[in-house]
Amino acid sequence: MLRASQNLPQRLQAVHARIAAAAARANRSVSEITLLAVSKAQPLETLRALAALGVHDFGESYLNEAVDKLEALATLPLTWHFIGRVQANKTRIIAERFQWVHGLDRLHIAERLSAQRPFHAPALQVCIQVNLAEEASKGGVAPAQLAELARAVAALPRLRLRGLMCLPPAESDPERQRAWFARLRALRDTLNARGGPLDTLSMGMSADFESAILEGATVVRIGSALFGPRPSRA
Ligand SMILES: *Cc1c(COP(=O)(O)O)cnc(C)c1O
Repeated sequence: MLRASQNLPQRLQAVHARIAAAAARANRSVSEITLLAVSKAQPLETLRALAALGVHDFGESYLNEAVDKLEALATLPLTWHFIGRVQANKTRIIAERFQWVHGLDRLHIAERLSAQRPFHAPALQVCIQVNLAEEASKGGVAPAQLAELARAVAALPRLRLRGLMCLPPAESDPERQRAWFARLRALRDTLNARGGPLDTLSMGMSADFESAILEGATVVRIGSALFGPRPSRA
């Protein structure tokens, strides 16, 4: 099997081309869309190679692994996004090391992150994860509880609420994919009509990012389309 880093330039170019094509279909500028490389379970050399190709945003889900990578690549101008589930006993490391958290879904965790964000760092940028289909296996706040959580998070001094994130049920039909992403956008628009301003929609992964871009995604979180199938973590 090819190591991911061997055909990384081609894969990155293909992802950029697909993002550009979806943006053109939606009459959007590619400059509104951030490619977040989901590098969980990828070796350090692969991250280094991708950074050398101009990717600056990396998403990690497993904290111990992420901290090792962050330290090894500390001299590079990278932005680190924590995209996994945030456990209460891990908030300090996340508050100290990351610039973004995408999976916020509980006020208790938000309060800890705000309290533990170092005073010398800018406010931690966060997205609230919404569990659109209310799936028991997934994190995220139920749509009915979103407004209350958003209000409380927006009031925390060391967090900056940027927007919403979702991980909807897998759908193969692009129209059905778009319907989930349209719901997240509508929730964001409703919050913005009451104050806002939330500028971020973190939605779309390898299997559905074009649909997400058509519905307004500003951050697409892409792993396997960039790196190939993920190595097992065993
Ligand atoms: C793993 C992961 C991704 C990337 O998934 P791919 O299908 O490999 O693109 C995106 N978002 C989250 C929250 C993830 O855990």
